[in-house]
Amino acid sequence: MTSEAKTVAIIGAGVMGLSIGWRLAQAGFKVQVFEEGLANRQASWAAAGMIAAAAETAPGQETFFALARASREDWPGFASDLETASGHGIAFLPGETLVVAQSQEHENHLRDTVKYLRQFDEPVRLIKKARLPEVEPEVSPDARLGLLSAHDGQVDNRILGTALCEALRREGGELFENTPVEDIVLESARAVGVKVAGEIIPADHVILCAGSWSSTSFPSSQEIVPQVHPIKGQMIAFQSDPGRLTRVVWGQGVYIVPRADGRIIIGATTEDTGFDLSTDQPTLEAQKAKAAAVVPFLGDLEIIDSWAGLRPATPDNLPIMGPSDIEGLTLATGHYRNGILLAPITAALIAEYIQSDQVPAGLIPFAPQRFSPSR
Ligand SMILES: Cc1cc2nc3c(=O)[nH]c(=O)nc-3n(C[C@H](O)[C@H](O)[C@H](O)COP(=O)(O)OP(=O)(O)OC[C@H]3O[C@@H](n4cnc5c(N)ncnc54)[C@H](O)[C@@H]3O)c2cc1C
Repeated sequence: MTSEAKTVAIIGAGVMGLSIGWRLAQAGFKVQVFEEGLANRQASWAAAGMIAAAAETAPGQETFFALARASREDWPGFASDLETASGHGIAFLPGETLVVAQSQEHENHLRDTVKYLRQFDEPVRLIKKARLPEVEPEVSPDARLGLLSAHDGQVDNRILGTALCEALRREGGELFENTPVEDIVLESARAVGVKVAGEIIPADHVILCAGSWSSTSFPSSQEIVPQVHPIKGQMIAFQSDPGRLTRVVWGQGVYIVPRADGRIIIGATTEDTGFDLSTDQPTLEAQKAKAAAVVPFLGDLEIIDSWAGLRPATPDNLPIMGPSDIEGLTLATGHYRNGILLAPITAALIAEYIQSDQVPAGLIPFAPQRFSPSR
């Protein structure tokens, strides 16, 4: 049987389901993506769009950093392929990211992080307090030290989602919105399709990309899908003049992401409160105060928008990617704080696995089986 004849059912149209679906449709598979609500409206819409391999890494996180860096390297090619395939610009800005220390403890952490990252030849450098205004004039004079990462950038994750939907469709993939998958259909311990509105939709491969809902929504497979749980992030946005802030800036417990049109996004809280998407005014005001402590002019702006999203977290904070213990069922979930960053490498590795039936070496550290007690 040629790969063209094979069908793939993907559960969830976030950045994972859409990226994998697009790549597999490009490779000639018959792809159907099923989405409970509207495409790209959960975590992938709520995100800030940072491509923050260095800024998100701390000493000791080699497994994460290797994956994150590989995906960041894939981003320029992924972005340009996607822009061509979809006809949409996605505002991918490779740029620089600045992390500033606001306390002695954070300063020590930045020094340790720079030492750690340099072991891997990562282009990061410390910026002394006196030089910070040259790098980013709007940073508070109270900032004590900076870490400048040359290759961490950003993408507009909302446009990214729109472009992925378009690219998927142009490659002949089908996207079914407002179409929840009720279960994964098993026959003799093999996944043979998905159940939608009581009907069985057959598929050669089923790929689970349901983000925070991956462990709770599919009765037949609940026991084999490792625990993925939601961690809420509340976000706010301001409108400013384009270019007033020139790069992504992080403080302690806050990040500030300037978009090209002058919108500035501030994130985010880390709340273990279940499937709750509410925001609350005191928390939003606290986020604003944290951001203004890093970039003071933000304190004078009105909050123009606020929202919350659910990061799909796992017990070891690493993604769960690869074949499950059920033949025909592949997992691509649990990307926690970095699913936008990790979308290109996830799509490439999962597509390679589905095409070749060989597990690429890059997937091995993220195998679902790492949580199985017997291994
Ligand atoms: C506030 C916040 C800020 C973030 N900032 C960044 C950032 O700057 N950079 C970065 O790299 N990452 C960031 N992230 C993380 C990133 O957003 C996630 O890791 C990524 O979006 C996960 O993608 P996903 O496709 O797995 O999940 P989702 O985008 O949540 O998509 C899962 C989809 O599955 C659907 N679904 C669930 N159950 C079913 C079912 N039964 N049938 C059909 N469909 C179903 C859902 O409706 C949903 O659309 C952030 C996350 C949050 C919440």
